[in-house]
Amino acid sequence: MDALRKLEILADAAKYDVSCSSSGSNRQNKKGGLGNASAAGICHSWTDDGRCISLLKILMSNSCIYDCAYCVNRSSNDLPRATFTPEEVADITINFYKRNYIEGLFLSSAVVKSPDHTMEQFIEILKKLRDVENFNGYIHLKAIPGADKKLLDKAGSYADRMSVNIELPTEDGLRMLAPQKKQNEILGPMNDIKQGMLQSIEERKIFRNSPKFVPAGQTTQLIVGATKDSDYRILKLSEGLYNDFQLKRVYYSAFVPVSTNPLLPRISSPPLVRENRLYQADWLLRFYGFNSDELLSEDKPDFDLLLDPKCDWALRNIDKFPIEINRAEYHMLLRVPGIGVKSAQRIVSSRRFCQLDFDDLKKLGVVLKRAKYFITCKGIHSGIKSMEPVNIRANILGDSSKKDPRQLSLFDLEGGMGNDLKIELPV
Ligand code: SF4
Repeated sequence: MDALRKLEILADAAKYDVSCSSSGSNRQNKKGGLGNASAAGICHSWTDDGRCISLLKILMSNSCIYDCAYCVNRSSNDLPRATFTPEEVADITINFYKRNYIEGLFLSSAVVKSPDHTMEQFIEILKKLRDVENFNGYIHLKAIPGADKKLLDKAGSYADRMSVNIELPTEDGLRMLAPQKKQNEILGPMNDIKQGMLQSIEERKIFRNSPKFVPAGQTTQLIVGATKDSDYRILKLSEGLYNDFQLKRVYYSAFVPVSTNPLLPRISSPPLVRENRLYQADWLLRFYGFNSDELLSEDKPDFDLLLDPKCDWALRNIDKFPIEINRAEYHMLLRVPGIGVKSAQRIVSSRRFCQLDFDDLKKLGVVLKRAKYFITCKGIHSGIKSMEPVNIRANILGDSSKKDPRQLSLFDLEGGMGNDLKIELPV
């Protein structure tokens, strides 16, 4: 099989991995046109400072010895299989890089022969890229759970970012749907990567030129909706991962029904709204000072699909509102629906010079259509008279509460652009 056919198969197989953001297209060139957007696995990811970069996103192989029920590459699935040699991956990466198609590589793989063998092949690829080709671009590598620690350490000395997919929120879920995987074989490597990063930071304080280990940090991905685990269970897990393993990101991937296994839920489409709520809540954990027990509980284990998690929290804690915008502490400003991190910072610095009113807030980027119910400006409240959560909720949702919740459509044919904004940014 030639390398191009392998690329078709293995770039397609990588599309379900969301821990590196993806965009796929297969538009063909037209007469007189320039180039074609072949589905060659080029996806977009974002740097810490917000720049968008293109990555070659491929699997090294989709020939898996495991049989995870939710996965398209499971050993029992009948589909075309391919495996790149280390030389082929290195050649494709260098050629794409030289043509300016990509700025880096996102490399994952099914488990070929054994976890150790797969990691050894990864290391061969990374060695070729870094030591032979002198490739200095970004590399994100998926670590294979169950592989020897020495192999992880070696790979971590070459990669910029590594991730070990946690896959399912509980050990029970893994036992049911991915019986060949063990939670401690996933958490162990995560801990090893964390220790390697900490050690490398300490060494570099003493020897400035000592090698970096996974300098862009580690991430993970978990599947939402393949098991009955609640949002609360998932959020608690993420909180633990951020605290214990210092992860950069947890990616949530709505379960895509690619199999008819009776152990899997019968759904016709992925639970994208739920995925979005989890991303919003994750944002609240990382940047807004919330903890998982404030957002959900055993008694309220799942997010409201119609309201974003911060609005939902504010309505359940209505006794804390309204707050006076000119006096409230920064951490309370962050808890107002409609006020994001940037606008809260702007409020704090602007009110040192003058008392802010509603027009000022608008200029500072506050989304007043949500915030007005929860704030006063110079003692004035411009929301509705009643502070009953049920009334505020109805006002915030407006007509949208009558429709089914669904994923945001930027170009809605009926309502025009943005009119059906059900999923809002976490401000
Ligand atoms: S180990 Fe990975 S590639 Fe293999 S079946 Fe499980 S999820 Fe799919």
